[in-house]
Amino acid sequence: MAESYAYGTEEQLQERLATNLARVRSRIAEAAARVGRRPEEITLVAVSKTFPVEFVKMAYNLGVTDFGENRVQEALPKIAAFHPSTLRWHMIGRLQSNKAKKVVEAFDWVESIESWHSAQALNRHAGALGRRIPVLLEVNVAGESSKGGVSPEELPEFARQVAALPQLEIQGLMTVAPLVSDAEEVRPVFRTLRQLRERLRTLLPHCPWQHLSMGMTDDYWVAIEEGATIVRIGRAIFGERPR
Ligand SMILES: *Cc1c(COP(=O)(O)O)cnc(C)c1O
Repeated sequence: MAESYAYGTEEQLQERLATNLARVRSRIAEAAARVGRRPEEITLVAVSKTFPVEFVKMAYNLGVTDFGENRVQEALPKIAAFHPSTLRWHMIGRLQSNKAKKVVEAFDWVESIESWHSAQALNRHAGALGRRIPVLLEVNVAGESSKGGVSPEELPEFARQVAALPQLEIQGLMTVAPLVSDAEEVRPVFRTLRQLRERLRTLLPHCPWQHLSMGMTDDYWVAIEEGATIVRIGRAIFGERPR
């Protein structure tokens, strides 16, 4: 391992990660407590995009078991370098069907299912590997053109189609909320995702639908109050991303 990073010495980095993680975990616990939930119901996915795999190893040694990456090319070497059996890598970015094989080979979860074409490609490659992959359907709740995800209107039909793919196991829904200055402003987005999940439970009762992946550095406590079971947090753990 390198002696030092742009972020300081290894010891300084370790200390900062430990402090950041402790803060995030206590905010998760506080938000859960406010709405009568248990913190164990919430999985912390540490988003390691742009950070070297050494950061992932340190966070793993501090008890983080789930990591998120949004670019396949960037993620593959990290996953190849560090993938103990108790660590789950989550794909959280745009999926291209020509990378579906690599995604299936490397990642444990795919949170960003939003196109029928790439869902089919994932299903096909997972079948070839004899794998069944847990997936989340990404919903563009706020209808932002810059963001991925199917619209709430398209969701029921899309869910019905994906549910018919035998190698994909739909575990729930994922969303990326709009950037706002006050996290309270995106509470309705999180609430809508939860309501969409309730509707799908009725519509497709054979799928588990237990997960809602929502909430990032600027809004995860609000997402937890609204029912998030997975929060995807990068900057609050690893620091500001290098540009
Ligand atoms: C980068 C990213 C995150 C984490 O964002 P932070 O603001 O660093 O917490 C979460 N989800 C997705 C889809 C991302 O691309």
